[in-house]
Amino acid sequence: MVNYDAAGVIFNIQRYSLHDGPGIRTIPFFKGCPLACKWCSNPESQKPNPELMFQPDKCVHCGKCIETCQYSAISHSNPFFVDHDRCVDCGACAEVCPTSALFMKGKRVTVKEVIQELQKDESTYRRSGGGITLSGGEALSQPEFATELLKACKSKGWHTAIETTGLASKEVIESVFPFVDLALVDIKVINPQVHRENTGVDNRLILENVIRISYITETIVRIPVIIGVNNDLQSIRAIAEFTQLMHNVKAIHLLPYHNYGENKYALLGRIYPMKSHPDSIDTITMNSLKIEVEKLGIPCQIGG
Ligand code: SF4
Ligand code: SF4
Repeated sequence: MVNYDAAGVIFNIQRYSLHDGPGIRTIPFFKGCPLACKWCSNPESQKPNPELMFQPDKCVHCGKCIETCQYSAISHSNPFFVDHDRCVDCGACAEVCPTSALFMKGKRVTVKEVIQELQKDESTYRRSGGGITLSGGEALSQPEFATELLKACKSKGWHTAIETTGLASKEVIESVFPFVDLALVDIKVINPQVHRENTGVDNRLILENVIRISYITETIVRIPVIIGVNNDLQSIRAIAEFTQLMHNVKAIHLLPYHNYGENKYALLGRIYPMKSHPDSIDTITMNSLKIEVEKLGIPCQIGG
C-alpha cells in the first residue's frame, strides 16, 4: 500500500538521462544532504529546505526585494547582494522580483505529484529498459518520502535506482533498499581523516552501510576521482579492496572530477571550495586508476 500523500522537498526532475542506471531515466533530485563534499556539483541540494538563489545578470536594480525583505538581508553593498547569514529563505523577495533574478530552489511535493510527472516518460522506460533514479542531495535524508516514492514506482513495474552517499541509519537502509533494483553507492576514500576533511563527516557508518546495501540489492560502487584527495593508485586500490567485502557488486565506476557546479556557488552566495584545483583530471591518470581496479578482477569503467 503506497502513501501517495507522503511529501518531501525536491529541487529538480531531470528527464531523458542516459546516466545513473540502465536505459533512459528520469531523476528526481532530493533536497538535503548530511555531507558537504568540497567538490559537490549540486550545492543547491545541501540544505534540506527550499533556498534563495540570485542571478545578477537578470537584476534590473528596481529595489523591490530590498523594500520587501523584513530581515534586511539584501543590500547593493553586499558583494553577493544577499546576506545568507541573515536570510531565512522565506521567499518573499523572489515573489516580488519582476525578472526572477531572485528565485527559490526546491519545492515541497507529494508522491502523487512526482508520479504524475514521472508517468510522462513511462513508454520511454519500457522501450529503453530504463526507469527512475533517486538522486540529490541524499534521498535517504527524506526516508519516508523516498520509500513511498520507490514503492509507487515499483507498483507500476518501473526499474528503480538510487544514487546515495550511504549515510543513514541502519533502519533507514533496511526500509528503503528492498524497493531499489540498483544502488549506485559513492565511496570517496577509505582513510577516515581524509574523508572527514573533505566531506565534513566520518565514513565509518557509510562503509558499514555500503556493505549492508550490497546484501540487499545489486550495487555499483562509484568513486568521484578528486585531485589531491584520491587520484592515486593507493587510494583507489584501497577502495577496490574494500568492495571485495561487499556482496553482489556489479562494477566500479570512476567519475573524474569536473567543475560544472562552480557557477552555482556564486548564485548561492558561497565561495567555490575547489577554486584553486585544476578543472579536470587527465585521461592517462584515469586509465591507470581503471587498470588498478581491474587487476583485482573487478569490472571498471570511467564515467557513470
Ligand atoms: S528569502 Fe526572505 S529573508 Fe531571504 S532575502 Fe528574501 S525576503 Fe529576505
Ligand atoms: S527585485 Fe529582482 S530585479 Fe529588482 S533589485 Fe531585486 S533582484 Fe533585482
